[in-house]
Amino acid sequence: MFDSLSDRLGSVFEKLRGRGALTELDVRAAMREVRIALLEADVALSVVKTFIEQVTERAIGAEVVRSVTPGQQVVKIVNDALVELLGSEAVDLNIDVTPPAVIMMVGLQGSGKTTTTAKLAKFLTEKRGKKILMASLDVARPAAQEQLRVLGEQTGVTTLPVIAGQQPVQIAERARQAAKLQGFDVVLLDTAGRLNVDTALMAEMAAIASATRPDEILLVVDALTGQDAVNVATAFKAEVPLTGIVLTRMDGDARGGAALSMRAVTERPIKFAGTGEKLDALEAFDPQRVAGRILG
Ligand code: GDP
Repeated sequence: MFDSLSDRLGSVFEKLRGRGALTELDVRAAMREVRIALLEADVALSVVKTFIEQVTERAIGAEVVRSVTPGQQVVKIVNDALVELLGSEAVDLNIDVTPPAVIMMVGLQGSGKTTTTAKLAKFLTEKRGKKILMASLDVARPAAQEQLRVLGEQTGVTTLPVIAGQQPVQIAERARQAAKLQGFDVVLLDTAGRLNVDTALMAEMAAIASATRPDEILLVVDALTGQDAVNVATAFKAEVPLTGIVLTRMDGDARGGAALSMRAVTERPIKFAGTGEKLDALEAFDPQRVAGRILG
């Protein structure tokens, strides 16, 4: 995860660490290299600009140049700024409500939405002791409903039986009723995806969201798509009240541009990271730990 960014930053800081003293010019030169590393990692330009300005100001203001271990101080300042950029604190799901809590999963086709729904169901069952009901609202592709049913079998999570001809809002309502009657804590709604952000998809998501009023609307996006993931998030945010982001394929993401831009651009927390194809490859997103990984 983030290997290429991590290597780049590592070599910038290695140079600083090797020096006994640093001038303001040294700090500025290092920050120019950090800037390039972030841009190559596909971090949004506006985010990079603000980040570099902040870090430079703090490094110079903190009189790093006069300290005994200036290199270490610069690394600490960059680390703290990365943690802030990633969202500072881990943000938990808002599911401690009168049951059933409803979580709506949205995202483009291929982003990993259905897999993530099953992963989240497994996570909440095993790590939080919750009783979960999953339902597929994807009536456009019958294979999607079948995929969720199979994933439910693999994870031991109940899926709502399919009734042919029902529309997404009706299925969501039926899922909520079934959960209430049968004592489920959380309902996970897997919605339809499309290959691109299109108006029909957005209208469907908005209609489901306003009829169902979920406690969480999580957008699933592919970290490997970098700034495109951020653009997708911005488009969804304009139509539905997103409460958080799940970044998938973090296991293959050497660059980290989506993770580092997402929070600042969308003002929504990254709540989970998908780290593999297996159904237990889901982690609660922790900004401190992720920053630690980036800086090695
Ligand atoms: P959907 O169309 O958005 O519902 O996407 P799927 O859930 O069907 O996932 C598409 C593919 O991505 C599947 O092969 C998943 O196994 C894979 N996938 C999902 N999440 C991850 C992840 O975090 N890491 C990796 N490596 N693969 C993932």
